[in-house]
Formats: sequence, C-alpha cells, structure tokens
Amino acid sequence: MKPKHVYYGNFPSPCHGVPTVIVKSKNGGYVTQNCTQCGDADHVDIPALPLYFHCPVCDTPVERVKRTKSVYECRHCKIKWELHTLVPEWSSLFP
Ligand SMILES: [Zn+2]
Ligand SMILES: [Zn+2]
Repeated sequence: MKPKHVYYGNFPSPCHGVPTVIVKSKNGGYVTQNCTQCGDADHVDIPALPLYFHCPVCDTPVERVKRTKSVYECRHCKIKWELHTLVPEWSSLFP
C-alpha cells in the first residue's frame, strides 16, 4: 500500500492554535487530532474532519457513509473503510 495521505483538522489546536493532523490513535481503533506543534492528541468530532479521505487501494476520494460516524465507502472498489484505516499512524508523524 502507498503511504497514507496527511489530513489536517478543520480547527486549530486548542493548546497552540496551530493546525492539527488527523491520525490513528496510539491505542488504535479510533482517530485523534494532534497538535502539529506539541503532538498532544485531542478528541475529534465530525465537523473537524476533512470531507474526503482517500481510498488506500485506488486513491480516489471516499465519502463518509450517511448516518455513520467513521465509516467511509469507496464507490470505485466497493470497499467500506473505518476511518482509522485511512489516516497515518500516530507514530509515523510523531516519532
Ligand atoms: Zn500543542
Ligand atoms: Zn478504492
């Protein structure tokens, strides 16, 4: 698989007022938005998320499935993705 795209949150980080990156959390299974200055992880709500993520297989934009919080569907591959599988690992951006 290709390296994951890097996605930024829609709001600045509460601690430093700088952009946040959306990453797979340290414990896995969910996503957090991390301050790009200090790396602090913060809870992320749907409004803070970018509208589109990219399919790890074909790289086309995938959209959130209506009435779900974190399921995205690639119409091209007909695969459903949990959001945490679409974003980089926490440790790959904050070594
Ligand atoms: Zn910070
Ligand atoms: Zn796809």
